[in-house]
Amino acid sequence: MGKVAKKILVADKDIQLVEFLQDRIKDGRFQFILATNADNVKKVIENTTFFAAIVDFEAKDVLDNKVIDLLISKNIPVIPTVETLTLKVHKELLQYPIIDYVIRNNIAGKGYLSDLLQGLEYFSNKKVLICIDSNSTESINNLKQVFHSLLFTPIFVDSANEAMNILLNEPSIKIIYIDYQLKDKDGIELCTDIKTTFLKREFLIFGGTEEIDETTFLHNKIKGEFLKSGIDDFLSKPIDKERFNTHILSMMKMVKHKHRLDTYVSTVDKYVLVSITTLGGVIVYASDAFCEICGYSKDELIGHSHSIIRHPDMPSSIYRDMWSTIKSGHVWKGEIKNKKKNGDFYWVNSTIEPIYDEFGTVMGYQSVRFDITDKKYIEEISVTDKLTGLYNRRKFDEIFTYELNQLSRYPKDLSILMLDIDHFKIVNDTFGHQVGDDVLFKVSSLLQNCLRKTDTLFRWGGEEFIILCPYTNLEHAEQLAQKIRKQIEEFSFDIVGHKTISIGLSSIQFGDTVEEIITKTDKALYKAKENGRNRVEVGI
Ligand code: GH3
Ligand code: MG
Ligand code: MG
Repeated sequence: MGKVAKKILVADKDIQLVEFLQDRIKDGRFQFILATNADNVKKVIENTTFFAAIVDFEAKDVLDNKVIDLLISKNIPVIPTVETLTLKVHKELLQYPIIDYVIRNNIAGKGYLSDLLQGLEYFSNKKVLICIDSNSTESINNLKQVFHSLLFTPIFVDSANEAMNILLNEPSIKIIYIDYQLKDKDGIELCTDIKTTFLKREFLIFGGTEEIDETTFLHNKIKGEFLKSGIDDFLSKPIDKERFNTHILSMMKMVKHKHRLDTYVSTVDKYVLVSITTLGGVIVYASDAFCEICGYSKDELIGHSHSIIRHPDMPSSIYRDMWSTIKSGHVWKGEIKNKKKNGDFYWVNSTIEPIYDEFGTVMGYQSVRFDITDKKYIEEISVTDKLTGLYNRRKFDEIFTYELNQLSRYPKDLSILMLDIDHFKIVNDTFGHQVGDDVLFKVSSLLQNCLRKTDTLFRWGGEEFIILCPYTNLEHAEQLAQKIRKQIEEFSFDIVGHKTISIGLSSIQFGDTVEEIITKTDKALYKAKENGRNRVEVGI
């Protein structure tokens, strides 16, 4: 909110135009006040300050031409509207010091009116630097009038030196008119100076010169040199105001769009983790937010392969899947663990997709991601046993369900071992709970050392563990169990000395349910206990 709406007087026979404008400019920056006859106009301007007035030029029956004179005498900028533009009307219109006229019989004309109002608001009181060294007051007045009528505040200088000084001290100046001949330099040189001195500032620069003769070589030469020095438009004096108005309004629209886009891009840069790579995976863009999370500067990322942030924990199958997806033109989504410059890691949820140039050719890949390190951390602790650092029962359920599903599609050997430390209670009772904890921790690392990479160890609860062994038949599982049993038996724990472990095992058949398997293995473990402990029994 904040801003007070600027009041626009609409002197018109009916409300149609007001309705159109209200519909076009919805953000409340203008308040339209309708006056349907001359008396109303007189009354309403007595006690209201208007930013501008739109006057139906042809409604002579209710609004005589004096209305325009009255408004102009009150310094209210006037925009007349006409239904059709005849030569006579055009001539009449140009007699008034109006902002511009609008042809209202079509949407485009009315759209121009809405642009004009928004332009006026945008330009209102904005400083324009006018660099001109002319003896002709007519020429200066023409420029003054052109910029004044659009509510600009012109600042006149006659030398390039002075122009540079003003630009240094007035960072708000964005629009500049430069005449070809200045006191100390020619205008083209000044234009180049401005472009090279104020690299980061954006200007709308008009170059111009007295109309000598459109076709003469000199005029065209000046025009060409000016345009090539980077000006936005070339104006021949005396300036064709109607042409200038439409032009500067469309430029204003572009500047506004660009500004909006720049704001958007800088917001994205600041808050969104984005990177863009070539087809070969070389980084060509990295947002600030992305640099921040991975700890590399833009320079360290751009020009390097995206694998600079690849974490060794990520299986290469993920990257294979990702590349084949995006190479076939599809979007890849997934959770990835990445490596920071300092060796730490972070987790992201990534969406990677091909990006195309304006001709529809794939130019590279864009990755947008968000940080899910916290979520991953919570996930991780919810499946990790605190004392031993092993996966807990919850993770067992997840992995076991996955393995059983796999089994239904790709038959393979799968065995399960259930282990329980013998007479563990006595450890706590004799040496205290802390010593008991130390033994549990040591047992878990002894077990871990006996396993292959594909085996997974879980703490099932208390002093009980489970080992899941894919690609392992009953015979091999039994060998593993005996190996474990012996290692524990032979190990001497600090303070406690020797302990033993009992193991029940079974192999899993396609079609077994989780409950059936657990019951079967648990029974085997019970049997090992019954038969004297420090034993391995097979479930059937
Ligand atoms: P069995 O040979 O029949 O297995 O005898 P046990 O004493 O090992 O069996 P029981 O189930 O009677 O006792 C298990 C003990 O394990 C009881 C409990 O105090 C202890 N325990 C379970 N979890 C923990 C733990 O996290 N830390 C410690 N220190 N002790 C634990
Ligand atoms: Mg037990
Ligand atoms: Mg026990």
